[in-house]
Amino acid sequence: MSINHFFSTKIQRWYSKHKRDLPWRQNNDPYRIWLSEVILQQTRVVYGESYFKRFTSTFPTIYDLANAPEDQVLKLWQGLGYYSRARNLHKTAKLITNEFNGVFPNDYKLLLSLPGIGPYTAAAISSICFHLPHAVVDGNVYRVLARFFGIEDPIDTGQAKKRFEALANELIDEKQPGNYNQAIMEFGALVCKPKDPNYLTCCLNKSCKYFKSNKKIKSIKNKKNKNKNYNIFCYLNKKKQIALTKNSQIGFLKNFNLPEIKEANGFSKKHNWKFLKNYKNSISNLKLNINIYYKFSNKIPSSHRWYSLEKNNEFIPNFTKKIFRQVSSLF
Ligand code: SF4
Repeated sequence: MSINHFFSTKIQRWYSKHKRDLPWRQNNDPYRIWLSEVILQQTRVVYGESYFKRFTSTFPTIYDLANAPEDQVLKLWQGLGYYSRARNLHKTAKLITNEFNGVFPNDYKLLLSLPGIGPYTAAAISSICFHLPHAVVDGNVYRVLARFFGIEDPIDTGQAKKRFEALANELIDEKQPGNYNQAIMEFGALVCKPKDPNYLTCCLNKSCKYFKSNKKIKSIKNKKNKNKNYNIFCYLNKKKQIALTKNSQIGFLKNFNLPEIKEANGFSKKHNWKFLKNYKNSISNLKLNINIYYKFSNKIPSSHRWYSLEKNNEFIPNFTKKIFRQVSSLF
């Protein structure tokens, strides 16, 4: 038996005995699989279950989700953060209802073209629901493959990513791609965990390079934390309003409504703007060092819109709320 075949067979056997009884595993309905994948991008399985149950009982079908008011969708999403994901969920439900008669396309590339569906989710849906051989590749999969095959490449290079993707696609069981993908995800979550993997009871330990090397292979590196400096410019007025605009130029803040934000080289004096304070924030692997500047003015650029600092809008992203809190101290 080749090592690839051994790996794929062993983890699927392990999965058939040890998989958790999770609500989205009751059937292979693409709507339910898609919902679970989008929710699990935001939270752990233990919390994701209750969100999944609430979504499927409120919106049993994709038509129910598509026809719901956006506020209702956002309300159910509350607590998961990144409301753009909930908005994309809603947009995709509408698109599938209106353009695909409510039926998910059984085509990886078409799935990938839908709002909020990236390579991981497209691979999960196409393999689990349509038996198409597309391997899921995420942090869990990188870790399991790196350890078992003894690959030490850091994953934050394009070359290493391609290597892992190619290996993941070689390993997939073409007869049962969905089962294989779910097996490796579950194996990474329960056995080959980031900390304290269950080496001694692991079904792969006899052939695992990491185990055989007495755990000397360097653990796979996650993306390095990047430090970034930003200046945020807040127009304020006496009505306790702040001017917001869409920030499309900075990737991680794309589509957020925010004051003007610009990349900076640390603290510097800004003409006509008053410095308010410096604070730190983290988003994913970015460590942000932020300087807030402000100016009271009734004139704002045409791209900006006034927004009340007191408006109780629960769907404002946390990043924006933090800025609101900082500038509210001026009133
Ligand atoms: S032996 Fe340890 S490192 Fe190797 S696959 Fe099993 S759990 Fe992961």
